[in-house]
Amino acid sequence: MRTLRGIAASRGIAMGPAFQFRRTEHTVERRTVDDPATEWARTEAALERARRQLEEIQVKAAAEAGEDEAAVFEAHILMLEDPDLLATVREEIETHNVNAESALQDAVESYAGALAALDDEYLSARAADVRDVGERVLSILLGTTQSPAANLSQPSIILAHDLTPSDTVLLDKALVRGFCTAEGGATSHTAILARALGLPAVVGIGPAVLDVPDGTTLIVDGNAGTLLVDPDDPTIAACEAEAVRNSAALAGARRHAHEPAITQDGRRVEVAANVGNVELAHSALELGAEGIGLLRTEFLYLERDHLPDEEEQVRAYNAILDIFGELPVILRTLDIGGDKHLPYLQLEPEMNPFLGLRAIRLCLARPELFRPQLRAALRASPGHDLRIMFPMVATVDEVRAARTVLEDCRSELETEGHAVSDAIQVGIMVETPAAALTADLLADSVDFFSIGTNDLSQYTMAADRTNATVADLADAFQPAVLRSVAQVIEAAHSKGKWVGMCGELAGEPLAIPILLGLMLDEFSMNPPAIPLAKQIIRSLTLDEAQEVAEQALAAESPEAIRHLVRETVPAVNF
Ligand code: PEP
Ligand code: MG
Repeated sequence: MRTLRGIAASRGIAMGPAFQFRRTEHTVERRTVDDPATEWARTEAALERARRQLEEIQVKAAAEAGEDEAAVFEAHILMLEDPDLLATVREEIETHNVNAESALQDAVESYAGALAALDDEYLSARAADVRDVGERVLSILLGTTQSPAANLSQPSIILAHDLTPSDTVLLDKALVRGFCTAEGGATSHTAILARALGLPAVVGIGPAVLDVPDGTTLIVDGNAGTLLVDPDDPTIAACEAEAVRNSAALAGARRHAHEPAITQDGRRVEVAANVGNVELAHSALELGAEGIGLLRTEFLYLERDHLPDEEEQVRAYNAILDIFGELPVILRTLDIGGDKHLPYLQLEPEMNPFLGLRAIRLCLARPELFRPQLRAALRASPGHDLRIMFPMVATVDEVRAARTVLEDCRSELETEGHAVSDAIQVGIMVETPAAALTADLLADSVDFFSIGTNDLSQYTMAADRTNATVADLADAFQPAVLRSVAQVIEAAHSKGKWVGMCGELAGEPLAIPILLGLMLDEFSMNPPAIPLAKQIIRSLTLDEAQEVAEQALAAESPEAIRHLVRETVPAVNF
């Protein structure tokens, strides 16, 4: 048995045979042709066929994964029409008399190569999209079937370098038990898809994952971030037992998902969802969410080539607010920068993007970005409990500046005759050590905090959250992170402000008793985690939770803390 480690990207444990998702390497010969006009006509026909295929995939993606996932294929269709790319192919065919396949492959490679060489994570991802589209057209020209997904015939663990959006759409989800990729971080397409499907995934494992032969028995553990290759019999038995326990526990918890989360002795906390689009908002409500604790608005800005205007944003926010009616919805203002890029903003490249002009810093520097979003949020607010939250705050001045822009937008709208709710709570994410250390000062300027442990862990531990080799450090169970969380909650409560958490830690079964004991008021998580979280909370008294929290704060390592919770809280061992 071998253990490969990566980034835990989606929770759960699954066992199954390996399926290497490998694209066929096309061998293209460069030939001289007598009739370039025919070659160009073949190219045009292949482009047209590729367009029809992509339109079909787009419809399938919209039905399965939602409009936002499907939008990627709109971008792919646009690439088929890219005038520069087409002119290069045509020129190559007509001036050098070469065959269509060769002209296309060269043009795609030089276009993708130029993008990849820009040393920008977002643009490198676009290079993969260009290659994805190029491969599609090439396989039509060569008459070969394109997707390796066609060979998947039994429920398997999918192993891949990384999966493109079209790869993931074409996979028959009934035959997928989990995903493991060599590349990719927690925000890769694979990770996002796996979470939406509720399947375990481990990403960023490295090239070793590509050497595992097809059919090898595997166990993917999306909780621990490990892939067990060829596990021995006792490990298989333990995994099977765990999978059975997991699904029985899940089914039991789902039956009570719509009941409130109240401890045995009567403390009620709110359990809300992290949501990134309309489809997830629907499933969150079905799974028992009592609100949205984090609406990631980036979905409106990514995978397109221009900013969404105010009207489009009003429609998008209304669509989500309508699903939740009068339940609270916390809209987080744009969190761009770090590993999320908008090429159309043409920002200066940065040496350390996670430490650069990210989130609220960018929004304060670019009012043309910030104001339409705030205006749209305010316009969508009447009749709802909309709350607004600023990400990546490090100073009191930033909060004051952001609130000034918000108030200015409100007066502007009122002058224009728009209705705006007058009960909008304003809060911040506490996700920098600076905010955690000055929580008492920041509390005076806000109505609430929401702790972002994904970033708080990486900044506190000085360990990049997307780097698999330091994943042990960027762990929210590290004593330094938990102590920081405890301090933030205490500081906010001493100023009479409520505190939520929307980092992944809030939905972590082993963390829930500790957070409950630390008096967290609201837990916001991926929707599939909600039923179990509520069940764990209901199994405890506040005294028990406080006892666990106290011991956890005295422990010296993440392992010790996890061990402590497993040993003392039966409800986390399902
Ligand atoms: C966080 O940092 O914990 C968080 C919830 O925000 P994101 O993961 O979107 O950076
Ligand atoms: Mg964050």
